[in-house]
Amino acid sequence: METGERSIFSRIIAGEIPADVVYDSERIIAFRDIAPKAPVHLLVVPKTEQYRDVVELAAGDPALLAELVATAQKLADEHADGDFRLIFNTGAGAGQTVFHVHAHILGSPDGGLEEG
Ligand code: IMP
Repeated sequence: METGERSIFSRIIAGEIPADVVYDSERIIAFRDIAPKAPVHLLVVPKTEQYRDVVELAAGDPALLAELVATAQKLADEHADGDFRLIFNTGAGAGQTVFHVHAHILGSPDGGLEEG
């Protein structure tokens, strides 16, 4: 992290803060968003603290980005109906509040995701 402070996601990864974890592998963790904006709202997070947003991740480790996207599909298959919105807020002006790269998966078990 640029500030030298650990993100809240790093603390979840370290087990210091509880989270509703739905996936945990060597390089990626996923858990339910604490303030869901859809019937299924998961966060998919690379465990490394190295990248603050998806642009940095794509430049630094494209294979990890591809793994993250494949994980998103797997989770959407398991928790929703297989279709999903994949959102990377990038920069404070776009609503990013946690500067540890993460993808939002928004989905629904029954095709009920709102337009937008
Ligand atoms: P951003 O706005 O794209 O950076 O997304 C950060 C997300 O993290 C928001 O949707 C928050 O609701 C979510 N969030 C913040 N703290 C926690 C937590 O402790 N557990 C799960 N989700 C969290």
